[in-house]
Amino acid sequence: MVMKINQFTDEIILLFNQRPDKLLQMLIKIQRQYSYIPQQAITQLSRKLLLTEANILSVIGFYSFLHKKSRGSYDLRISDNITDQMLGSTAITSMFSNKLSVQLAIPRKDGRVCVDSTSCIGMSDQGPAMLVNGMPVVSLNKKRVESICQLIESNSPLNQWPKSFFHIKNNIQRKDILLTDCSDNGAAISALINQGSQNIHQQIEHSNLRGRGGAGFHTSLKWRSCKDAIAKRRYVVCNADEGEPGTFKDRVLLTTQPDKVIEGMTLCAGIIGNEIDNNGRLENSDQLTGGFIYLRGEYEYLYKSLQRVLQRRRDAGLLGKNILGVKGFDFDIEIHLGAGAYICGEESALIESLEGKRGIPRNRPPFPAIKGYNNQPTVVNNVETFVNATLIAIHGACWFKKIGTAQSRGSKLLSISGDCDRPGVYEFPFGTSIRHILDDCGAQNVQAVQVSGPAGFTIPAQDFDRYIGFEDVPAGGSFMIFNQQRNLLDMVKNFGEFFVNESCGFCTPCRVGCSLLMQMIDRVHQKISTNHELCEIKKLSHLMIQTSHCGLGSSASNSVMDTLKYFPKLYQQQLNHSDDESLFDLQGELLQARQLTGDDNV
Ligand code: SF4
Repeated sequence: MVMKINQFTDEIILLFNQRPDKLLQMLIKIQRQYSYIPQQAITQLSRKLLLTEANILSVIGFYSFLHKKSRGSYDLRISDNITDQMLGSTAITSMFSNKLSVQLAIPRKDGRVCVDSTSCIGMSDQGPAMLVNGMPVVSLNKKRVESICQLIESNSPLNQWPKSFFHIKNNIQRKDILLTDCSDNGAAISALINQGSQNIHQQIEHSNLRGRGGAGFHTSLKWRSCKDAIAKRRYVVCNADEGEPGTFKDRVLLTTQPDKVIEGMTLCAGIIGNEIDNNGRLENSDQLTGGFIYLRGEYEYLYKSLQRVLQRRRDAGLLGKNILGVKGFDFDIEIHLGAGAYICGEESALIESLEGKRGIPRNRPPFPAIKGYNNQPTVVNNVETFVNATLIAIHGACWFKKIGTAQSRGSKLLSISGDCDRPGVYEFPFGTSIRHILDDCGAQNVQAVQVSGPAGFTIPAQDFDRYIGFEDVPAGGSFMIFNQQRNLLDMVKNFGEFFVNESCGFCTPCRVGCSLLMQMIDRVHQKISTNHELCEIKKLSHLMIQTSHCGLGSSASNSVMDTLKYFPKLYQQQLNHSDDESLFDLQGELLQARQLTGDDNV
């Protein structure tokens, strides 16, 4: 066994050219083989990559999909987003635990199966859902759970399970300019070669395209900063780490429009690095560019199909060397897999992860466009942003500006889930009201909508005439609907747990703040809280916003603060009594310390 592990590890190390920055990719492959990372593999990696074992262990510990202990032949991770819970994921989890006689997160004694929960896996439109050895299984119900348990007990390999279990629907419910486009592959690159990099960059600038990941930074500005930075090598990264709970529109774009995503990246390379003049010749032949698609671990099932698209494009001269016959226009793309870390959606953490490290957000400035991957200028854009860039290159800025608002041009893809008749992906022009969106997806008696995930905004019914747009309700992609029957505190509690799990632990205000916030939310939920505690929540939220190192910590309290503002009665009715005193139980808190020390005087 030892020999086999060493041999396999050597093969993996060679596959990645013994590059330490490929550590995460190596670990993912080793785990796929053994279902965990054996110690022999860690020792071997340490020797060959000249990394300390402590370094490798810290990377394993950081990513929730990597493990040092076996989780068995069947590793079940049930998606735990609030929308999964609304569809019955808690009961589904209990069914699995009971039928398979296994405790949550603890591998069964025979070492064959483990049942665990995980953050949203990007299937909120067809939940409850789970990953089995990394493969998504959707629409879980009692019957499906029973079949799966039988398949596990009979040791049936995954490729013999019914195909319907793994059938992922795209659920596109509304199309606009982006989803109806049928342009040929290569049309945007042809436009680049015919019109030159400068002209196409101007079109992107005139279109006022803004990043679709949520922050809304101007795309042309980011590209210009990267282009103007002094360097010989530049990088283009597609952020396909769609980790915001309730979001799944990038999953659908990567399934239905992968060519447009890759073409947008190639276009970017042709603008920031391989500048092309309007005679279709390269102006700057000593500039090198490289590309990555950072694909979230939950979407590993898309890896092979994306590899096929990349190869097809290389074969068609749309990727690789001398693209479309332009000598020196070289650009290629690698796919880099994530391993279950929400924070890696933050662009500087994503770059750390690309370099094989733990995804700890960097200090900014310098921004990645100036100093990114391997300290070289790097453009990081969202999947949807690259698709928009492709279409602007083909059709021009005027076409793009025909819809949307003055500050928010074009359309936005929304992942709609929760209490509505038709969950799925909807494309709306910016400027569409929340009320209109709710009508379209068949939502009734709506109490609130959570836009842009747990880090986003809670929109109450009185604000449904507000509209999606960077100037009003900035929408990253997640749009979760809660009707009047829902207890919004369940949502707040779910988000609180999510942030506790996903805080990277680097800075104290977030690491400790998220846990304290969760404890206080829990007490409100259990009706053992007081007004004093509500004041403490506000103070803590303020502190986290002011002092956290990155956006995760500064947005972790958004849902509790929004619901406190818009739904004060919700909290008041939960209070144990409304005086201003804390219900802190000093003796209860000391009990554990007394038991540990055996000293009753503590
Ligand atoms: Fe990590 Fe949270 Fe600090 Fe961001 S705010 S660096 S996620 S601990």
